[in-house]
Amino acid sequence: MTVLALPRLAATGPRLDVDLDAVAANTALLARRATGELMAVVKADGFGHGAAAVARTALSHGATRLGVTSLAEALALRADGLTAPVLSWLNPVDADLASAVVHDVEIAVPSRAHLDALAPGTAVHLHLDTGLARDGAAPAEWADLCRAARLAERRGRIRVVGLMGHLACADVPGDPGNAMGRARFAWGLETARACGLRPVHRHLAATAATLTDPLSHHTMSRVGAGLVGIDPSGTTRLHPALTLTAPLVSVRRVHAGTPVGYGHTWVAPHPTELGLVPLGYADGLPRAASGRAEVLVRGRRRPLVGRISMDMAVVDLGAEGAEAGDEVTVLGPGRHGEPTAAEWAAWSDTLEHEVVTGLGLRTPRTGR
Ligand SMILES: *Cc1c(COP(=O)(O)O)cnc(C)c1O
Repeated sequence: MTVLALPRLAATGPRLDVDLDAVAANTALLARRATGELMAVVKADGFGHGAAAVARTALSHGATRLGVTSLAEALALRADGLTAPVLSWLNPVDADLASAVVHDVEIAVPSRAHLDALAPGTAVHLHLDTGLARDGAAPAEWADLCRAARLAERRGRIRVVGLMGHLACADVPGDPGNAMGRARFAWGLETARACGLRPVHRHLAATAATLTDPLSHHTMSRVGAGLVGIDPSGTTRLHPALTLTAPLVSVRRVHAGTPVGYGHTWVAPHPTELGLVPLGYADGLPRAASGRAEVLVRGRRRPLVGRISMDMAVVDLGAEGAEAGDEVTVLGPGRHGEPTAAEWAAWSDTLEHEVVTGLGLRTPRTGR
């Protein structure tokens, strides 16, 4: 980490610190739990932590492959110098699929139309819908897709290197949806086999199932959330990797009865000091957390008061006060009493995933 020693106010704005040692430890744990290979999923800019940095760290601590949503994300990894195998699983049929071959990106195929749109030489993972009715091939179309893919393979047009599914309910380990998803995937593998396909990669599990459901592991696990310290199954202690801080821009003293922020949703119940935090919902602080969220100032939890605005939020500093320039910790692993992504998620009625992916659109990141 490079931190320049500049004057406090001039030097620092909001900052996201990514703890790559945490990513390394999480990857190593997931690699031990997975019975097969580990694919590091670094979509959405590595869940807001920086795709290239998370990818590099994961690859040197047990991951062997990378996974992303769009082809554009895969090409960005190539442009950043990553040479590991990359799979992209969500593309429209008119995507620039020739570039997938040029840049050695494997493509997931959910339909005949997608299969027909591939450029010659593509390495393919056939994608079966195993229970979300979302992005894989419907079971009714699976046998037809397998036959067509096998034919294309025999003609030398493509190579089928993988079969994939995705579980709908893996965050609830005992949910019957998991057994159903596993069974449908097993049927999908059988069907593909009967069509003559022999792909080396067969993958169903993401983070939650990697941690709780060995029957779903097959030859590979695709983990994203776990790399950055989120365990959707709530069973395993991982290391959160993100810390968001900002300096107080200003501090003001207000009288009892002073209304604060848009809509005057909070009125100072007694004389107090208010600090201005230069982060708002455009920086990823969920507005829905207004009235509940807290931050850490000078080692103490302080409430954000009034509505979170687009670019700023107000913290009630109480009688102890603080000074302009003092660092506020908005979110972190929780080791020093700061709020965690899980708390922000609870305050705004969402998932940690949504909180961390929303941060960092305009906040510079530093890595360590
Ligand atoms: C996001 C995603 C993953 C990773 O899931 P996590 O729960 O974040 O580990 C795996 N597979 C697919 C298809 C995904 O979209």
